[in-house]
Amino acid sequence: MRVKFWGVRGSITCAYPDFLEYGGNTACVEVEVFGRTIIFDAGTGLPWLGNELLKRGVKEMDMLMSHFHNDHTAGFNYFKPIYIPGHTVHLRAAENYGETSIEGMIRRHMQAELHPVQFDNLESDLNCIGFQPGDEFDLHDGIHIKTTMLTHPAGSTAYRLEADGKSIVYATDTEHNPDKPDQGLLALMKDADLVIYDCTYSEDELPQYKGWGHSTWNQGIKLCKLAGAKRMAMFHYSPDHNDTQVRELENQAKATWSGAFGAKEGMEIVL
Ligand SMILES: [Zn+2]
Ligand SMILES: [Zn+2]
Repeated sequence: MRVKFWGVRGSITCAYPDFLEYGGNTACVEVEVFGRTIIFDAGTGLPWLGNELLKRGVKEMDMLMSHFHNDHTAGFNYFKPIYIPGHTVHLRAAENYGETSIEGMIRRHMQAELHPVQFDNLESDLNCIGFQPGDEFDLHDGIHIKTTMLTHPAGSTAYRLEADGKSIVYATDTEHNPDKPDQGLLALMKDADLVIYDCTYSEDELPQYKGWGHSTWNQGIKLCKLAGAKRMAMFHYSPDHNDTQVRELENQAKATWSGAFGAKEGMEIVL
């Protein structure tokens, strides 16, 4: 199983030189296993992954959306495979938006006031598939997905992907009570080989952002240790943290637990 980070930033892109060591694009992670391509989130890293998939001739892919906040969708409309006949994208997200379906969320994202090309004019097969928060399902033979809803304004879904005897958890945009760990997330993280975790803030910053729905490396490590997870990729860095500040947070996290490391745009991990 190969994991590649195409966007590790949270909230907004950071296109300045002092952000480029860790990376300025927002949330997008590629997983390749059994010849299948699975994508977590459609942040601004996605178009660059799209170009790479075209080069590699990948015709079918699965996209798992944590939620529809802008930093997780901003790359979607510039993902070239959705405009090219012969490509199939299975996009899944939790049905957590009242009467609005998942296809409805994508249609809204591509409406004429926001984007030049609309959903009905897409030349690919874009299948929008909703599921209930907490559902488990198989993406393909041997690729199993578990989900849980995180604490975040309008919700965010965490995923556990299991395949080939390995497990990855993608858990971003979550705020949890340090005195009362999220039991659903803990269960999802149980013995995971890799946890990709929301490390937006430092512990010092956290109190002033209560209710914004984000977490810290300290809380991530606490969860990883409780769950017996093996490694934690720090992810979804605040746009207020440049490379120097993220490096400092990464060093603190590594000194606390050797399983922690800072995800960087372009970084690949083979599990
Ligand atoms: Zn976010
Ligand atoms: Zn969010």
